[in-house]
Amino acid sequence: MTDLKKYQTYIGGKWCGAESGETFETEDPFTGEPWALIPKCGEADVNKAVEAAYAAWDSGPWADTTATARGRMMRKLGDLIADNAKSLAQTEVRDNGKLISEMQAQCQYLPEWYYYYGGLADKITGSVIPSDKPDTFNYTLREPVGVCAMIVPWNSPLLLVAWKLAPALAAGCTAVIKPSEFTSASLLEFMRLVEEAGFPPGVVNVVTGTGKETGEPLVTHPKVAKVAFTGGGLSGRRVYELAASGLKKVSLELGGKSPNIVFDDCILDDAVNGAISGIFAATGQTCIAGSRLLVQESIHDAFMAKLVDVAGQARMGDPKDFDTQVGPVTTPPQYEKVLDYIGIAKGEGATCVLGGGPAGADEGGGKYFVHPTIFDNVDNSMRIAQEEVFGPVLSVITFKDEEDAIRIGNDILFGLAAGVWTQNIKRATVMAKRLRAGTIWVNTYRAVSVTSPFGGYKQSGIGRENGAEAIDSYLQTKSVWISTAEGSGNPFVMKVAGSN
Ligand code: NAD
Repeated sequence: MTDLKKYQTYIGGKWCGAESGETFETEDPFTGEPWALIPKCGEADVNKAVEAAYAAWDSGPWADTTATARGRMMRKLGDLIADNAKSLAQTEVRDNGKLISEMQAQCQYLPEWYYYYGGLADKITGSVIPSDKPDTFNYTLREPVGVCAMIVPWNSPLLLVAWKLAPALAAGCTAVIKPSEFTSASLLEFMRLVEEAGFPPGVVNVVTGTGKETGEPLVTHPKVAKVAFTGGGLSGRRVYELAASGLKKVSLELGGKSPNIVFDDCILDDAVNGAISGIFAATGQTCIAGSRLLVQESIHDAFMAKLVDVAGQARMGDPKDFDTQVGPVTTPPQYEKVLDYIGIAKGEGATCVLGGGPAGADEGGGKYFVHPTIFDNVDNSMRIAQEEVFGPVLSVITFKDEEDAIRIGNDILFGLAAGVWTQNIKRATVMAKRLRAGTIWVNTYRAVSVTSPFGGYKQSGIGRENGAEAIDSYLQTKSVWISTAEGSGNPFVMKVAGSN
């Protein structure tokens, strides 16, 4: 216990422990051993953080900071992240077990969110409305909504914080962030950079702890104006219900069961790589995983032979090594869940053609390793086709033609993303139009950018993150009327268009 690193959280510009003095352990998913202690925040800490965020937004110093100065601070934060990207990535890998090759690239790209939205901060404008009332001046102000609660999962903590924090700060909001209880450390290290960038006390605060004890009091706090949530469907539903009782603004980024659709006119090697990147990158622990692989029946056998061959060579190992290709599952409950789904798929009659169980240390695995697993002959009605596994498990479903692919692709409650592999531009355009998902990739998979809107159709979410429009969900519009008329008119009659 004595050699565990002890983290403090950051509330109202001060480093502190939880009010209760309690902590919880965070584990390295590769070794399965605890490595750090995190403050166990509860309602008292949430209240303190929200009050600090409210005061900074309502009465200063953030309220008094010009939009240009906000943008400058954000760009400084971007520079600091760039200088510290490698160490931030190492902390993420230690806590979430994802590949260092992926997390380092992610952390090096992270500054772009603070540059992009920092640049937008002083370009948020209202408008002067050509009023239909004479002697009237009417204009709009676009104002920050206020304190924003930001709740993120364990798979990409700093990236998913950036998707929320950068547009919120640009809009002039303040933030209370709750990371996943499995991966709090990188955010706490990131807060050192927020402090160094010069953000005033209370602008960005962190409460660490569980969804129930820390997340729920945060979502229901009356001074929280907006909740931005990324996570699973069950918790998303709960957060939505709690936020509704306080009539809060909400954006939700939830899970998916995305179809990755391979036509017989694809470039086979590209499609095989795209299928593998869609499901086995990040050990399948990504909301955009292409976990339903739809293969046209005319190329099924040739495609599957190649897919199984290439996927079977994936190198499992320590995620801290740059040449590891498949790392551990991040959390013990998630590990159990992935193995349960493998059992369910076998019970449903799907044919396991690769993997299908835990991987031992002799195969490069560690405590929570699962073999890259492929099930063939899956029917879209099976649970393994309909439910999000969030692990390295691929379901292969065959289809006849475009109509069949569209029918199967859309026959799901989710709508986060879809992939299409074809060389036919007409087919690509038709598929992009008819697939019901927030992102469509053609001859590529997993491309995400700060510049392009991201979010879900159907039960994959509400609202959009990234791209210029994301800032709108942190703003509200005020209409200001100024009369230049002589006299005030009849006080008992509402002023309508054309009157004065
Ligand atoms: P999760 O829903 O269990 O937890 C996400 C966050 O919500 C955590 O911080 C958790 O503590 C908090 N939380 C849980 N219950 C809560 C409650 N009642 N009130 C307030 N907060 C609560 O998800 P996870 O297991 O950490 O992450 C995996 C899920 O996240 C997957 O379903 C995945 O698809 C989804 N995800 C979605 C996206 C996206 O952008 N669409 C991105 C990454 C992950």
